[in-house]
Amino acid sequence: MYKNINKCRLCRSSNLSIFFNLGKHQPSNSLKKNLNQKIPSIPLKLLFCKSCKTVQLADTADPKLLFEQYVWVTGTSDGARKYSKIFYSRLRKKLVKKKNFVCEIASNDGTFLKIFKKNGDIVLGIDPAKNISIEANKNRIKTLPDFFDEKLSNKIKKKYGYADLIFARNVIPHVENILSILKGIENLVNKDGTVAIEFHYAKTILDELHYDSIYHEHLFYFSIQTLTKLFKKYNLFPYDVDLSPISGGSLVIYFSKAEKKVSKKLKKLIDYEKKIKINYLKTWQKFYKDSNKHSKNLLKLVKNIKRNYNIFGYGASARSSTLLNYSKINNKYLDFIIDKNPLKKDKFTAGTNIKIISISQSRNKIKNYKFCILLAWNFRNEIIKELKNLKFTGKVIIPLPSKTKVYDI
Ligand SMILES: [Zn+2]
Repeated sequence: MYKNINKCRLCRSSNLSIFFNLGKHQPSNSLKKNLNQKIPSIPLKLLFCKSCKTVQLADTADPKLLFEQYVWVTGTSDGARKYSKIFYSRLRKKLVKKKNFVCEIASNDGTFLKIFKKNGDIVLGIDPAKNISIEANKNRIKTLPDFFDEKLSNKIKKKYGYADLIFARNVIPHVENILSILKGIENLVNKDGTVAIEFHYAKTILDELHYDSIYHEHLFYFSIQTLTKLFKKYNLFPYDVDLSPISGGSLVIYFSKAEKKVSKKLKKLIDYEKKIKINYLKTWQKFYKDSNKHSKNLLKLVKNIKRNYNIFGYGASARSSTLLNYSKINNKYLDFIIDKNPLKKDKFTAGTNIKIISISQSRNKIKNYKFCILLAWNFRNEIIKELKNLKFTGKVIIPLPSKTKVYDI
């Protein structure tokens, strides 16, 4: 089910230090069909590699357990659809040719490739989640149901030639065998091509206490410095960066095989990382202390409210699973969680056994409630709009970023 690492996944050093133990959690996406279903629990611990400074999980869950039936569908979020347009226009600027061969690693339902295809590029998605790659192919986004590595990159190269653009959104931090992906990217990308890597940024995780972003799929917690050091080993050199709203604060770093001039924006962010000592164990130990305190206070608040009022949640995301499990907020406190994703409807949350219902199922229910906890808080604007549409008139509890806030909707 899982294996404990005794050497860093990236540099093989055994000089590792565990600084945050969240206990054993059931995989966040292993939602139960009924409450009798038995699901294994897997340790969730963060460690710091004193050699390459990369923060990572101490245990690797079997990826088959995590990804094969992965239930996240990009297209279900309005925010993701809007962002895909911004993402597209930024990437377009990095392209030299008019018609390009564009590859996305872990392309999900193909939402982000669709726009490239519409604008005349040849697109290819790669995604190991079989159910979702079938959907993507139905939507005419050619998608290979496979893990991307050097072997697959050779196959792709043979059929399509070199890629002008390869992008990977929030996937590099999720793969144990990251080095074989990097070999594949190095092998497949064109000499004047671009590789765009989007990842949940360690600086935001630290600043805003995103401890809910620690879950089994999320193996690495990169800073710009740790990520670029790794990519340089594969002859991929960073030259620019953009901020992204994904996960409540991400970065997109652009790499190329030819060393290009590094943008001012990128230099500035690297300087800032050095200033705040992002790659120091002490900084991460403080993150643990602050997160632990935040989670205890959140449970206290929920307990207090529950004395007089019933509470429901919104958003059964992977992150909400960690937040609920670590804070010990279970079906004793929350009556149900609303989620838009039809694949999650009528299931129960991993470890905390809270029923997930659809928007239409919630329609008559939520008028009687005074409190809603926004678990997918990184989509707060979208969710508040939705709650208003549903005529919810109570208060929302927004656990993060940084501090829990409660206010009238
Ligand atoms: Zn290391």
